[in-house]
Amino acid sequence: MSLLSVKELTKSYDGTLAVDHVSFSLQEGTATALIGPNGSGKTTTLSMIAGLLKETEGSISRDFQSGVGFLPQYPQFFPWMTALEFTEMAAQISGVDNKKARKQSIKTLEFVGLSAAMNKKAGTFSGGMKQRLGLAQAIVHQPKLLLLDEPVSALDPTGRREIMNLLKSLQQDTTILYSTHILNDAEEMTDQLLFLKQGKLVEYGSLPEVKSRHAEPRIKLRFDTEEAAAIFEKRQLWQMDRDRNIIQIPFTDAGPTMQQVLAVLADNDTGIAGVEKQNASLEEIFLKVAGER
Ligand code: ADP
Repeated sequence: MSLLSVKELTKSYDGTLAVDHVSFSLQEGTATALIGPNGSGKTTTLSMIAGLLKETEGSISRDFQSGVGFLPQYPQFFPWMTALEFTEMAAQISGVDNKKARKQSIKTLEFVGLSAAMNKKAGTFSGGMKQRLGLAQAIVHQPKLLLLDEPVSALDPTGRREIMNLLKSLQQDTTILYSTHILNDAEEMTDQLLFLKQGKLVEYGSLPEVKSRHAEPRIKLRFDTEEAAAIFEKRQLWQMDRDRNIIQIPFTDAGPTMQQVLAVLADNDTGIAGVEKQNASLEEIFLKVAGER
């Protein structure tokens, strides 16, 4: 069942299209990664879905009963409030009744790993703690739809891992739409990828679908030394790219088969350290999709 559906969603600022006729839907219980370079319209899209910004054209249909949580890219806190006070206020604003708000806030702060800091003022929090508090305010009312704008971009690798793990554990009962430009994270938690470029949706689908559309399989050879790789490169007539001791040979009709490559490696003392077949990474697909004019 689709929990949210946007059709021809468009936002124009003084005639410039920040979001340009974007359509997609989110199936219940799935995670969708909204990917795009800076300025491609990710924040604008999420803000319209969160109801913080009015669309210029198009429609957003969602089940308003189910509740929405939103973590902005730069969440704002009142520095004098404690984490618990802030979360409780967010719960009340989202319609949780006063009696339940405290209990639910404590539970949520425990879930995001802030139980020890619950009574500390948000103004004293580190970046990672602020991001956890931001997540707490977004989920305290147990929304069915969770919108997250670059939830892990400002964090160090440890913080990123922790927040990604929290998000993954929310995934069972929540439909998640999050923007990111960290493609490893997108690859880790996604049922659907949406690529934005200059406000337009230029590619979408599941990870395997997107990967297979842009797959450019190739043979990757790793040599013991740069010299060994350079010698191999000079001797063979195939099209290949060399980066220090790594050589990549694209699989094309004109190129060699894996067997031919292996035969050459077996016949010569090439100083080979490893051979693998590789597919395009999401990073490479992103650069290709984002870079195409
Ligand atoms: P992203 O989140 O992908 O970095 P944004 O949604 O923030 O992209 O921005 C998309 C485009 O809209 C950019 O070109 C940006 O300059 C423009 N834009 C965003 N907000 C405003 C605004 N309030 N007024 C004018 N232009 C804006």
